[in-house]
Amino acid sequence: MKQILFSVTFGLSGAMSFGQTVEFFPAEVRGLEKTFSLSGTAGQSTQAKNLWLHNRTAQTLRVYARPHVEYGALYFTNGSKTSHDFSLQLAPGVKGALQLFGYLMDSATARNCAGYLALAATPVNADGSDGTTRTVKLPVAVNFKGPQALPGRKPAPPVGAARWNKPDRYEAVMQEGLPMRRHLRHLPLKVYSDHVHTGDTATQYALVMRRAVEVWNAVGRENGLDRDFFKIVEQSGGADIRVDWTGKRLLPNSQGTAYPSDGLIGMMPLGRYGGSGNAAETLLQELCHMLGVSHSEMRADIMFPGAHTHNPDLAKLTVTARDKQMLDWLYQQTRYAPLKE
Ligand SMILES: [Zn+2]
Repeated sequence: MKQILFSVTFGLSGAMSFGQTVEFFPAEVRGLEKTFSLSGTAGQSTQAKNLWLHNRTAQTLRVYARPHVEYGALYFTNGSKTSHDFSLQLAPGVKGALQLFGYLMDSATARNCAGYLALAATPVNADGSDGTTRTVKLPVAVNFKGPQALPGRKPAPPVGAARWNKPDRYEAVMQEGLPMRRHLRHLPLKVYSDHVHTGDTATQYALVMRRAVEVWNAVGRENGLDRDFFKIVEQSGGADIRVDWTGKRLLPNSQGTAYPSDGLIGMMPLGRYGGSGNAAETLLQELCHMLGVSHSEMRADIMFPGAHTHNPDLAKLTVTARDKQMLDWLYQQTRYAPLKE
């Protein structure tokens, strides 16, 4: 897992007050007659909606939830993590929320996905042992309309106009309610690759660095910026960002760590990534943190916090349309907190 060393707060998006409630009574479960429905556009995640689970028994309940929906279109989220199943423990009388949203992987066509959410509720006995599990099914419908049905959607919006919104389930680093980013006048950020202490040959580091920088610079240009985000420099003096490849600046269990306020990126020696494509993908994420982007909850995005391990060719290294859109949104903000003065 890659992390950003910064006060990143993941709030639950969406109001907690709307949604649907399933009530667990000692002898029955109520609230299963109504279909839990979500709607959105194919290729984008729908708004998240709460499913409230109310424990109306006198015992603690452990509830395990798993969707059985066509095309695997239903996901759980807790604001920072996305998963396909979920469990939570409810004390007697307590009402807890599962947050769900719909997403169609690799599809740009309208599709209605039906199915159900299986809820397995296990009472916890006084001695800590499990009682008898009761499994119920809540009908679910996730409906996606085709993207072309969306009014006003333009593939190449004009430069300077209010273009993209922030992509759904994508976070910026926030400070006092404002997204943080660099001042444009500070771009390009000078990046120094500090790999001499690894004892490895410099060539491969240079290739990885150059490619990662190229990818973000191309994104910025496509978004209409008149300058690059990053520029590689050969001297450490005066660099805005130093990339430390010794592995000594990593948080535990991470493959890369960004310290935006310190101008530092911690990486492992290149040989430990299982390929320079993997290393470059990690570096892409850490570089983008230095621009003020936090994480995406969608696995395909380069800013998804878990490591991507498909080790692409450096030449084929790429980011998603959502990654581009996030940077586009962020660097159009006129009200922002400067990430370093
Ligand atoms: Zn990260």
